[in-house]
Amino acid sequence: MTDGKLEGINITLDDVRNPPKDWVTTHLESKGKPVWTRTIDIDGHVITLTNYDAEFDFTERHQQELIDFVRKAREFNPELIANFKRLIFDDYQPASRYADEEKFPSNGMRLNDGVLLFKRGQRSDIKHRTDIVSNFQGTIAHECFHFIGGEYGDAWKQAFDWHYVGENLDDWELIPVPDGSDKAYKNIKTGKLAYQGQYTNHPEWCVTDYARMAWDDDFADSGVIALFEPSNLEAICTQKLAVLRNIKPQA
Ligand SMILES: [Zn+2]
Repeated sequence: MTDGKLEGINITLDDVRNPPKDWVTTHLESKGKPVWTRTIDIDGHVITLTNYDAEFDFTERHQQELIDFVRKAREFNPELIANFKRLIFDDYQPASRYADEEKFPSNGMRLNDGVLLFKRGQRSDIKHRTDIVSNFQGTIAHECFHFIGGEYGDAWKQAFDWHYVGENLDDWELIPVPDGSDKAYKNIKTGKLAYQGQYTNHPEWCVTDYARMAWDDDFADSGVIALFEPSNLEAICTQKLAVLRNIKPQA
């Protein structure tokens, strides 16, 4: 499954979602020199900005939204930004893996030490799928929630009824998604789709269709709302807000 070629590098959507360790390094090295690099110091938290996209304009609004995010994140849980040391603006845009740019966009990815934004994720002039902040601010927040999500996976899956299709594989068949670029599991009895081989028995507790794909994206999109508009999450699932708020920074 190859979705695009970039100067001799084959990029699959799976690489984008679950990058091999050196994917980003190889990917960025192939671009040569960045258009510009600068640093921003937000109350002592320094982030290196590296831009590879000649068309991208880092506006006053981008700067304000980045500052606003860092301040809110620090108050919510400083671990959200502990590894947010660089922000990369890529000139690359992977297609939506499920052929739906609104519901399942490729906005960016978390790196070990920062966040990479694809062209779509750089946009402050369109709304993030959570509908409360710009796509720029929402994508950064989403990726930063992935920094803290991992260790709470088991508790989150249990609390919010997430399961893997492997638990009852006979009930599921693998079907191609609309554009044929990827596959999803379809439940033979109910017709329900499990995009990432996961499903929750409580999709109504999820804030977006994207969140319904996988528990970690449920965690991260819930996090975006918990951070910027907590009353919205409270209305959809009080317990998710409580769980997110109770994650304490490690001593
Ligand atoms: Zn995600």
